Amino acid sequence: MQKTANVVIIGGGITGCALAYEMALRGVQDIVVIEKQYLASGATGRCGAGVRQQWGTETNAILARDSVKRFESMNEELDYDMDIEFKQGGYLMVAYTESEWEQYKKNVAVQHSLGISTKMITPQEAQEIVPHLNINSLVGATFCQSDGHANPFHVVDAYYKAGRRLGVNYETYTTVTGIKREKGKVTAVQTTKGEINTSIVINACGFAAGTICKMVGFDLPLYPQRHQALVTEAVEPCQGPMVISLHHRLYCQQTPHGSFIMGVGDPNEPKDFNIHSSWEFLEDVARQAITVLPLLKNLRVVRQWSGLYDMSPDANPIFAEIPDAQGMWVAAGFSGHGFMVGPQTAVLLAQKILGQECFMPIEKFGLDRFRRGELLLEPAVV
Ligand code: FAD
Repeated sequence: MQKTANVVIIGGGITGCALAYEMALRGVQDIVVIEKQYLASGATGRCGAGVRQQWGTETNAILARDSVKRFESMNEELDYDMDIEFKQGGYLMVAYTESEWEQYKKNVAVQHSLGISTKMITPQEAQEIVPHLNINSLVGATFCQSDGHANPFHVVDAYYKAGRRLGVNYETYTTVTGIKREKGKVTAVQTTKGEINTSIVINACGFAAGTICKMVGFDLPLYPQRHQALVTEAVEPCQGPMVISLHHRLYCQQTPHGSFIMGVGDPNEPKDFNIHSSWEFLEDVARQAITVLPLLKNLRVVRQWSGLYDMSPDANPIFAEIPDAQGMWVAAGFSGHGFMVGPQTAVLLAQKILGQECFMPIEKFGLDRFRRGELLLEPAVV
């Protein structure tokens, strides 16, 4: 393995791979991405693949809105030899309680102020979009046609291939075991394949970002939390948009291949690294999905899996240089939406680290917000 690098990026998920590309595109040479397994083996390859702009905080909505533009042209921009399978079938967010509906109205006001064309619709209009939606006690819904989903493996592959053409080096099956510092500045990254001298390290380790920060003695306010998902057998296309019911903690979409992917969040999930799948999840998700989308009751489950959310205290990401470790940056804390904001996260970080003008104020994502108690609490998380 190489002995020196200008930039070492730890983590080969969407964040690390997109960032490597954006930095190389801006002329940085000698970048290496270190990934302990294979690319997209973390949360990225386990995610629900949803891409939505319907957020309640400006920060998430801007990152998602601008990332949608990038997904739309990604095949061409990255000169991808396959297809990232970005399909804009929309997102239907359904509200079964008055308080949820009140929150949705506030969220939509944020979205409209940013030019996101979400519509507020009646239960009947929602049922016209998804005919098998249960509208008993549905208060209302919001719909954004330009939301959708993309294939996370292909998106990472597209960034990887584009990065490789620009000279990025990828070291897979290589684990970072330590970070060296001198006089408050990072100097080297230690790995299972040797040590790399560098002055810039980016921690894009998602659920493991806290572990990496501990290597320089910094306690990152972030914890891992298991989220489970399943995929069903493929059936004839019958559902265009992703359906989200925050009340039922459910998201459910039909992929272009006909199978349904769905998951539910469990508020009682412990804060740990457990990624085993459970029977309890199967029962829970079946109950919630059949309540919201009764037609799915006879679908057969093909596979279930789980992955880890990297949870910050406000479900907004943390982009910051680590105190007392100059040159070391963190990009983590994406909760359940790091895939959809990945393209613009990478642009923002590349701009900041290279001293360029940022397209949005990156300070909002800083660590200071926790110290000051000025959280960017995101209300639209499953
Ligand atoms: P990851 O993809 O987790 O990548 C981090 C990488 O770091 C991993 O590959 C890991 O192996 C590597 N690593 C860790 N420690 C080390 C080390 N010591 N040395 C070297 N490498 C290391 N987001 C969406 O936008 N839409 C969705 O629909 C969605 N659904 C989700 C559903 C589930 C079930 C889950 C679990 C997540 C979902 N998410 C979704 C969230 C999304 O997957 C994550 O926010 C996003 O993938 C984070 O990307 P990342 O690159 O930052 O982290």
